[in-house]
Amino acid sequence: MAVERTLSIIKPDATRRNLTGKINAVFEDAGLRIVAQKRIQLTPATAGAFYEVHKERPFYNDLVSFMVSGPVVVQVLQGENAVAKNREVMGATDPKKAEAHTIRAQFAESIEANSVHGSDSLENAKNEISFFFAGTEILA
Ligand code: ADP
Ligand code: MG
Repeated sequence: MAVERTLSIIKPDATRRNLTGKINAVFEDAGLRIVAQKRIQLTPATAGAFYEVHKERPFYNDLVSFMVSGPVVVQVLQGENAVAKNREVMGATDPKKAEAHTIRAQFAESIEANSVHGSDSLENAKNEISFFFAGTEILA
């Protein structure tokens, strides 16, 4: 297995409930290293561009509104098989379908306010990391 990097976002529902540390502990316990992290306020333009792939989906406008409803924590996670490992610890998009030990099962409020984003492929991870971070901000 190769060492990979993936882009993670702790979403506004989780920052609002002061869950950043608890979520980061799940990542670290799973062997994922937080090699970059910043707390930012997304704008509608930035959130809309980040979720461009979902533009035609019925939930797109609500999703963009949700993502700008409070601060987010954007982060780069590094580790063996990081893309798949992060998706595993996040759990299914719909928290009702997520396995009990996962972040979404433990913390998500709804299918929309589901606490975390994680890249879904190595190629998307590279693009999403460079969307938020300069190379000099990532310190392994
Ligand atoms: P994931 O975040 O698990 O990769 P998707 O890429 O399919 O899921 O969707 C992106 C985000 O859009 C989800 O994390 C969630 O916040 C929101 N979302 C997805 N499906 C729905 C839905 N049916 N209704 C409302 N929001 C949704
Ligand atoms: Mg996705």
